[in-house]
Amino acid sequence: MLDALSADPRVTVRRGGSPDPDGTAVVYWMQRAQRASDNPALDLAIDLGNLLGRPVVVFFGLFPFITRANLRHYRFLADGLPDIAEGLCRRRVGFVLRRHPHHGLLPFLEEVRPAIVVGDENPLRQTAAWRETVAGRLRVPLWTVDADVVVPSVLLEKEQYAARTIRPRLHARLNDFLVASGEPMARVRWWAPDGMEAIEPTPAAVEGLPIARDAEPVADLRGGSKEGHRRLARFLRRGLAGYGERRNDPTEDGTSALSPYLHFGHLGPREVALAVRASGAPAGAVDAFIEQLVVRRELAVNFVRFNPRYDALAGCEDWARRALREHRRDRRPHLYTERQFEAAETHDPLWNAAQRQMVTTGWMHGYVRMYWAKKILEWSRSAEQALETAVRLNDRYQMDGRDPSGYANIAWAIGGKHDRPWPPRPVFGTVRSMTEAGMKRKFDVARYVAQHA
Ligand SMILES: Cc1cc2nc3c(=O)[nH]c(=O)nc-3n(C[C@H](O)[C@H](O)[C@H](O)COP(=O)(O)OP(=O)(O)OC[C@H]3O[C@@H](n4cnc5c(N)ncnc54)[C@H](O)[C@@H]3O)c2cc1C
Repeated sequence: MLDALSADPRVTVRRGGSPDPDGTAVVYWMQRAQRASDNPALDLAIDLGNLLGRPVVVFFGLFPFITRANLRHYRFLADGLPDIAEGLCRRRVGFVLRRHPHHGLLPFLEEVRPAIVVGDENPLRQTAAWRETVAGRLRVPLWTVDADVVVPSVLLEKEQYAARTIRPRLHARLNDFLVASGEPMARVRWWAPDGMEAIEPTPAAVEGLPIARDAEPVADLRGGSKEGHRRLARFLRRGLAGYGERRNDPTEDGTSALSPYLHFGHLGPREVALAVRASGAPAGAVDAFIEQLVVRRELAVNFVRFNPRYDALAGCEDWARRALREHRRDRRPHLYTERQFEAAETHDPLWNAAQRQMVTTGWMHGYVRMYWAKKILEWSRSAEQALETAVRLNDRYQMDGRDPSGYANIAWAIGGKHDRPWPPRPVFGTVRSMTEAGMKRKFDVARYVAQHA
């Protein structure tokens, strides 16, 4: 039975061996999949607990120094804590939340003496390194679960060249993995031992931590699974049917705006995809949405998982890097520093409006994001510098920043990643360019600028 559980392609055995027969519990080390439903890592922990006759406890360590995360992001994360606690309690699973400097997993494991530890996966290098460190130090098995994609990323085997190469592979496996969770219940309820240290899972949990304050929190964008589900329901009611036609118009409420909830794991991509499929919306709209949610999103995860230079120009295609090098000395009529970009002080009202949308609301419309990044390339001294500027601003201000989708799309915009060569243009070479005139043909630019004045 254990073998059957570990054979699931979502599961990676990081440290093998048998569960400790004297272990008191199954511990789920929650990192990215911050939710109590549609969570394959939690389901696995509960299945293991039921098999071993042990309770299950989720451990979450609040660490205030996640690369490029700031108070904006931590507040959103903390909004989600009560929902996690409530959902886990319903499934008879414990929740131990600790914060810096007491956030370490290993001291917690020494207190609990687990039979086995389950983790979820995040392909970014900082969290991937933590998994390796923990695997090296544990004396019990560690299994991790690729819980935030529909098709397990290991099945793609290597870095995929473009959407056209990954699409058929994902679609071939979609029906195997687009199956609703059975949401198992823990048979043995977890009771915290007397005196075990844990803090209250409330939004106040992050207050007083030494968190970077380089972006203001956004009061209108509340995190958490409940809020994510509310927004998903509203999108199914009001946005999905017109998604095919309206998704590239940033003046309309035409996309789901679910990316922050997917980024923090407050929603799982599987439940979103299943809800969209079951919505009764026209097939064209459903297909267009699944293309973004599964094909584009999982192409980005594939890029970050298999390309260690995912946030540098060095991770982009040779043809694009060569072209950008050849056009290095091209005349650039406008040049801005990162500070000018950050303050939305360019000559272009559309670009400034996009930047303001991101800084004030924590989210920028997807179609405008492409233009935003392309123009940073056009108005920077070098492509390397442009990519660094785009990554820093995107990660600082977007609520969904610090995500594979951000790194892959910035690499697309600036380094031709997942794209093909286009007819040459100054500065861009054969990397695809975008113009204000092109944007004006697509939507009412003046209206968008007025919306973000
Ligand atoms: C320069 C640039 C930077 C970006 N930075 C980020 C980022 O930091 N974080 C982030 O999540 N997305 C990023 N994207 C991808 C995309 O723009 C956003 O995911 C999307 O606009 C979010 O809005 P939505 O939830 O309404 O999307 P919808 O259109 O409603 O799509 C549903 C979901 O599909 C996924 N998705 C949609 N478009 C893409 C795409 N092109 N690539 C990968 N996944 C996609 C997202 O998870 C999104 O929530 C970036 C795109 C560009 C061009």
